[in-house]
Amino acid sequence: MESRGKILMERYELGRLLGQGTFGKVHYARSLESNQSVAIKMLEKEKMLSAGLSEQIRREVTTMRLVAHKNVVQLHEVMATRNKIYFVMEYMKGGELFDKVEKGGKLTEVAAHKYFHQLIAAVDYCHSRGVYHRDLKPENLLLDDNENLKVSDFGLSALSESKRLDGLLHTTCGTPAYVAPEVIGKRGYDGAKSDIWSCGVILFVLVAGYLPFEAPNLMDMYRKIEQGQFKCPSWLSQKLQKLLYKILDPNPSTRASIQKIKESSWFRKGPVGTLTVKGRTPSENATASAAPTAGVRRSRKKADGDATPLAVTNLNAFEIISFSTGFDLSGLFIEEECRKEARFTSDKPAAAIISKLECVAKALSLRVRKKDNGVVKMQARKEGGNGVVQFNAEIFEITASYHLIEMKQTSGDPLEYRGLLEDIRPALKDIVRSWHGDDKQQQE
Ligand code: ADP
Repeated sequence: MESRGKILMERYELGRLLGQGTFGKVHYARSLESNQSVAIKMLEKEKMLSAGLSEQIRREVTTMRLVAHKNVVQLHEVMATRNKIYFVMEYMKGGELFDKVEKGGKLTEVAAHKYFHQLIAAVDYCHSRGVYHRDLKPENLLLDDNENLKVSDFGLSALSESKRLDGLLHTTCGTPAYVAPEVIGKRGYDGAKSDIWSCGVILFVLVAGYLPFEAPNLMDMYRKIEQGQFKCPSWLSQKLQKLLYKILDPNPSTRASIQKIKESSWFRKGPVGTLTVKGRTPSENATASAAPTAGVRRSRKKADGDATPLAVTNLNAFEIISFSTGFDLSGLFIEEECRKEARFTSDKPAAAIISKLECVAKALSLRVRKKDNGVVKMQARKEGGNGVVQFNAEIFEITASYHLIEMKQTSGDPLEYRGLLEDIRPALKDIVRSWHGDDKQQQE
């Protein structure tokens, strides 16, 4: 269990819990080296792998590396033990933007204009790189120390999806209130247009203080969303109302594109000169009371099975490109408790790793004893000072195309084994991405 004050990977001191995500906790942490504040999202690898989510993890890592923008929460590094994956991210001191809305009821158009600009900048940037969020919601809008908005989890939505037989992705933890009608309608959809819809809902909530589509039950809410049935509160400027109606258009083909949003008068000029009202009038309160502000947040409960929204994968070429060039996973596999092992990562398939190990064993006159369950057992042919040196190379699948190989001595003299390793390392270079944990071993 992670706890406050614990040192993680000898690199980060863990602090308080910042939030609980769908798949794991997010903790504050401080880098021991630079003293920099970070946020660490911790995912249980076992859970992800057993849920068949290894591909999604890979996609998330790739996506987070793909997007570097001032309005997107930056991923600093990814680390992993055999049991956990850690995403070390930029720490967003200001917390969630929606805490402001909940405290203050709603934002002025001036404030909402600033945040909406930053949201659109992030979304536009990511879309231009073929990355769609698909799960834009209040919890993903965080503020830095300067009150600037950054979107988190670009790509994380993939984690809450599992592949369906029909090739579409099935979202198990949707955010109905922010989800576009075509997503609810289970039609294949354009990731860009559905993200824009969510931006529209977010903008509405910022200035209204309540959700545009609310109903006593989920089915009625979906019906309203599908029909685009909502009303702007009267205190919104005409320019803003016009923009909201253009964005919250249930027909994705006539819905405003990012370009159109950017060209709109409210977006360009802002609400300068318009009246910004803080309180609600009694009649407006009547509307709002049926739609409590607390409802702006996503329920973390699972959505009703039948009404579960769908999404399609949008990353392909991008993933491949980013994996083949400079995708640095160094620091990815650091084992905390065990230092006697030499570990390396490889982006080769398991079969290729095994055959390379056999090949190297042969060249070094080692005997390969057994290969099963991803363990290659090897031993020296001659007895040494302390019996025969034997060691295992165990292959762990981290994602379909990433493996961690752990070399561990099981018998014989440690010095002889170390000598052997010195020959093995360079011989394996074709399949090694990087070695880990070996420096300490050398010093021991
Ligand atoms: P998930 O999307 O898996 O549900 P989140 O990424 O939303 O999980 O994380 C859960 C909560 O942790 C967020 O709502 C937020 O309050 C907090 N959090 C996440 N990332 C950061 C960060 N980089 N800085 C500060 N707080 C964060």
